[in-house]
Amino acid sequence: MIATKGYAAQNPTAQLQPFNFNRREVGPHDVRIEIAFCGVCHSDLHQVRDEWGGSIYPMVPGHEIVGRISKVGSAVTKFKAGDLAGVGCFVDSCRVCESCRMGNEQYCEAGMAGTYNGYEMDKKTPTYGGYSNCIVVDENYTLRISEKLPLAAVAPLLCAGITTYSPLRHWKVGAGQRVAVVGLGGLGHMAVKFAVSFGASVTVLSSSPGKEADAKKLGAHHFVNTRDKIASKQVRKSFDFILDTVSAQHDLNFYLSLLKTDGTMVMVGIPPQAEPVDAFSLIGKRKTLAGSMIGGIRETQEMLDYCAENKIVSDIELIPIQQIEQAYQRMAKGDVRYRFVIDMATL
Ligand code: NAP
Ligand code: ZN
Ligand code: ZN
Repeated sequence: MIATKGYAAQNPTAQLQPFNFNRREVGPHDVRIEIAFCGVCHSDLHQVRDEWGGSIYPMVPGHEIVGRISKVGSAVTKFKAGDLAGVGCFVDSCRVCESCRMGNEQYCEAGMAGTYNGYEMDKKTPTYGGYSNCIVVDENYTLRISEKLPLAAVAPLLCAGITTYSPLRHWKVGAGQRVAVVGLGGLGHMAVKFAVSFGASVTVLSSSPGKEADAKKLGAHHFVNTRDKIASKQVRKSFDFILDTVSAQHDLNFYLSLLKTDGTMVMVGIPPQAEPVDAFSLIGKRKTLAGSMIGGIRETQEMLDYCAENKIVSDIELIPIQQIEQAYQRMAKGDVRYRFVIDMATL
């Protein structure tokens, strides 16, 4: 066993505290990564506070993991000690179902093994995430990371990056299209960077008027303050595609009214409360409401390589692990610019 240091929540109301636990020894197909940085996703906060139900404690959150490999198993072929590597939202899947065979491990019929707040594929060994000093992962669920980019700013690509890249690719967003990104947080700011990079005309729909200058700096062409009813009305029926990254309750029918005929709105944000959708919001203009969850290993690697080629990283605020609760408080208020990343050297 490998003695590991991390930070854990013991229950939904407790603050994260130092926590010692064991990881498995490096098996033939495993790599051991010394974690340098871990991004702070709003999903960490939802799960630590048990906002979706079914949380497993003690919980060591963190699924935006980057670091250097210190050891590889005897059968490992894709990595060697000293390589940079990353781990995203899952660490295993059944490998044989249709989704896995298609490279959509995130939709594994047997249920993927979440990087934390889940179990290994034996469905009984709990998984612990990246708010920790090291992790042991099968090489097939480990990502290659370029040496060219600032490493701390790469960490958020492992979740916020792939979660926005994947639907933009799947729905073929590009030049000639008007795209709106709802919510300018961790996911939202990556969505803006990708959609701009793919050639779309991009509008940020934000509930925070103070983020307008940042939205433009990120490359967005337009900004609408959704608390301004007049400005919001002006963009009705104007978007081909909307990516909704909002983490809290909001009126889906209003955002659907901003789509053009045949437009598509994709949910990636996961508000804890259900939000009613009126059939009239969809039928009048043959609109589609869809959802998307992270991305498979192959597509995550494609996204990381695309980012290395195009110099795309996250805009981050680096924090010591001791400030995780303050980071959560700011995140809950929508005050993230635009991703907190934990410097694991502070552990
Ligand atoms: P985040 O950094 O906190 O950003 C969420 C943004 O939503 C906020 O910055 C804010 O942007 C907006 N917002 C918050 N409350 C709002 C409200 N009441 N009304 C309107 N807008 C509001 O969170 P994140 O890490 O990007 O994650 C966003 C959501 O995606 C979370 O629910 C997370 O669990 C989920 N998620 C899903 C996947 C997936 O695979 N589908 C993967 C990762 C995360 P403005 O200030 O601009 O309004
Ligand atoms: Zn995440
Ligand atoms: Zn599977």
